[in-house]
This record gives sequence, C-alpha cells and structure tokens, in this order.
Amino acid sequence: MKSLAFATIEELRLLLDRKEVTAAELVAFYAQRFAKYDPSIGSALELFDTDSILKNSSELGELAGIPGILKDNICQTGRIASCGSKMLANYRSNYDATVTARLKDAGALIIGRANMDEFAMGSSNEYSAFKKCYNPWNLECVSGGSSGGSVAAVAAGLIPWSLGSETGGSVRLPAAFCGVVGIKPTYGLISRYGLVAYASSLDQIGVCTRTVEDNARVLSVIAGQDPKDSSSLNVLKQNFLTNLKQPLPKKLRIGLIENILAAEGLDPEVKSAVDAVVNFYESQGVEIKRISLPTLDYAAATYFIISRAEAASNLARFDGVRYGLRNKAATTLNDMYKMSRHDGFGDEVRLRILIGNYVLSEGHAGQFYVNAKKIQNMMRQEFVNAFKDVDLLITPSQAMPAFKVGAFDNNKLQMDLQDYFTCFANLAGVPAMTVPCGFSKSGLPIGFQLVGPHLSEALMYQVAYQYEQAHDWHKMHPENLL
Ligand code: GLN
Repeated sequence: MKSLAFATIEELRLLLDRKEVTAAELVAFYAQRFAKYDPSIGSALELFDTDSILKNSSELGELAGIPGILKDNICQTGRIASCGSKMLANYRSNYDATVTARLKDAGALIIGRANMDEFAMGSSNEYSAFKKCYNPWNLECVSGGSSGGSVAAVAAGLIPWSLGSETGGSVRLPAAFCGVVGIKPTYGLISRYGLVAYASSLDQIGVCTRTVEDNARVLSVIAGQDPKDSSSLNVLKQNFLTNLKQPLPKKLRIGLIENILAAEGLDPEVKSAVDAVVNFYESQGVEIKRISLPTLDYAAATYFIISRAEAASNLARFDGVRYGLRNKAATTLNDMYKMSRHDGFGDEVRLRILIGNYVLSEGHAGQFYVNAKKIQNMMRQEFVNAFKDVDLLITPSQAMPAFKVGAFDNNKLQMDLQDYFTCFANLAGVPAMTVPCGFSKSGLPIGFQLVGPHLSEALMYQVAYQYEQAHDWHKMHPENLL
C-alpha cells in the first residue's frame, strides 16, 4: 500500500475501478498515515470516523471513492467549522457549503477538517488557536498559511487533494512552501456559499494537489455558477481536463513583470529557479515579453487596508449572541460583547479588527480605505491592459523558501510582506496558480506562479502541465514520509 501515499487521483481511480482497493480501504489507509505522521506535522484538526465519511457521499461521480480534506472554514453539515479559532471551536454547521455539496455529489470522501491560521489570517499557520502546522520537508519550518493544514497534508502524502481558501495568497503561498500545486481561480468561479468570510471581495476557495492534472480534476467538480452566491459568475460548468494535455498553443506570449522581479527581498535561489522556468518556456517557442505593472508596488499595502477593513466588518457577527463562544461571567450586554470577543479571538485577529475599524473610521477612511480602493481599480485596469499584450504572466510565488517557525514572531512587517507575490491576483480578481519548480540548497521547495486573465484557468493548466511533465519536481516527496 506504500505507493498509494503519493498516488494521483487518476491512479486511485484505476485501482478503485479494478476493485484492487475499496473506498473504505483507502480511507483507512490515509487514516493510518495521519496517525503515524500528523502528530509531528499538525495538518488535521479532526478526522471523521470511516462510516460517517462513506455514508455522506454518493458512490458515483468523477471523484467517487477519492478521499480529501477541507480547510476548517468550509462548512460541512453536522461538522464543526472552527476557522482555527476558539470563537468557533464548538460551532457545528447545519448546512453544506456549495463546494462541499458538489464534492459529495461527485462521490468525494471528505475525511476531516484541516488546520489553518485563525479566520484565515496569516501566512505561516502559526496563528491557529489550536496548533501550529509544520512543513513536511523540514519540520523546523512553517508549512505556510493560512491554508497550512490543507497543503501540508497533500505534500506529506496523507491525502491526494484538499481545499483551502484564499484572500491574499493562502493557498498559493503554503503550496509553494510545501512543493505542491495550488490554484486561486478567478473571483466568482467557485461559490463562496458556506465559506466563512474573511474579506468577501477577495475571498475565493482554492484547490491543492500534487499534480496539475489532479488540480484540474477537482476544480472541474467544484467550479460553476451558484445562485446562493451573488458574486458567483454566470459561467457554464467546464471540464478543465479537456485541453490539458494539448501542446502549448502556438504564438503563446508570457509576460514578466519587471518591477515584481526587481522586488527587494526576493531570495536569489527563488529568483534563479523562476528564471529557469522562463528559459524552459522560451526554449519551447514561447515569446517572453518584459512588462511593468507599476501599481503592483502598492499591492501589499492596498491588500493590508482592504483585507482589514472587510475583516472588521465581517467579524462583527461574532458577538456572543448568535454564534460561537459566549462569556458567561458578563452581567451587561455590552460586557458580554466585549468579553466574548476578547476571549474568542486571538491577538492577530483582534489586531486586524482594530486596524480595520481605524481605516474605515470617519476622518481616516478617505486617507486609507478610499485610496486603497482607487489603487485596486487602477490595478485591475493595468491587468486588463497587460493581457492585451501577453496571454499569461510568470512571477515567483514566494519571496523566500519556507522560514523557521517563530522567525517573524517579532517582525510582523516581514510576515505581512509574505503576501507580496500573491495578493495582487486577489485584488485584481484574476486567476493564479503555483507550480513546483525546484528546491533551495537547504532542501525546501520553490514554486513559480502563473497569472492569467479572467477565466483563463484552462490555458493556465495546459501551460503548467507542459512544464510539470518536462520536469520531475512532482515526483519528489519528503524522504522521511515515504
Ligand atoms: N497572508 C494573508 C493574510 O494574512 C493572506 C491570507 C489569506 O489569503 N487568507 O491576510
């Protein structure tokens, strides 16, 4: 059964179809791997019992019998959705998120809840109220966040696929840190119904897998319009596998964003790994164009303001009245609000709520929030213009390889700057994915990022697949987990 650990969905599908393995055996197999390895990784907050897993899903469909795990801010009927927070530690959802329902209809087996930074706020999974999540390639390093659990479980061969969520890079950054494929699709391609909100205008569910093909497979199941989410796009359901293996389109133009590549703080090993990717595409006849997107220099600051502003407003609902933790010692209504919120939220979340209220407050909103929204609009326009000249863009996915646990405990700015290469895609609403492209000398994974115009996921997968198949990165796994 060892080879199952890093098997692709397609390989598992064949084994299931030939009846060489049953769905129950697969669930038991992954449960054993979690039992063996997850105490030192910390990717799961809960694993469900096998019977309840099997009875919740259809036996037919594209993902029939294929186990996966969901970030703990995606609702599953009857299950806790803690969002990595004490506030919701005992909150049980009474409905399925649209993605959960679609996965179950497609036969996927959802085996548990994945660890995350509290309310998806963080870049390292160190802000989970329950436990940290460590990098399977080096347990002294962070997994990345905020979808650290979803990603580490896939990288460690504990599960073949997972869903995370993205507001500023929370699938792509950990995926790059852990050496797997992660996508944040076009805003509105996947329903947000049943995803607990952080910053709704940026939030989007994303997919994490070890291969490009697996990623396309899972996205095909969950993408598509949903009347329950007013921001969901009116697009037909699409099969992202259809053109996946086609050769690169003729006359493909890929852009390099000069000002992004010149960013201060970009690790030289990351830079040279991404340069090698560009050389690969050039050798395949792709035209490489250098462009500049000046507003991206302000992306991290813009993201900082908009995400905090929306978080302050979204998290106002956790007041001890309707959901989650309530402080029982309070004697007045006001104290109950204050004490419940104080007890329920961790430091980072509290800080963001304070900043969010500040940037929205009278007298300051013009300087902060209104300006940030103006820059966001300019950024969107810059992308529209850029995609008249190029089909896709390539950038690094990360400023540096995964850092040591605790490295930025006293340097919040460095922690926030981890979003630099990812958050602009959320601000512009465009799709972006990270694909493994090498390792640092110290053995930590590096990823490159493809960014495309709205709804270009099929092209992105096709282009990523050609790179992946010409390299062996996706066949490499942490040695201590084989
Ligand atoms: N690191 C970013 C933040 O802390 C991104 C989080 C996310 O994408 N959910 O806000």
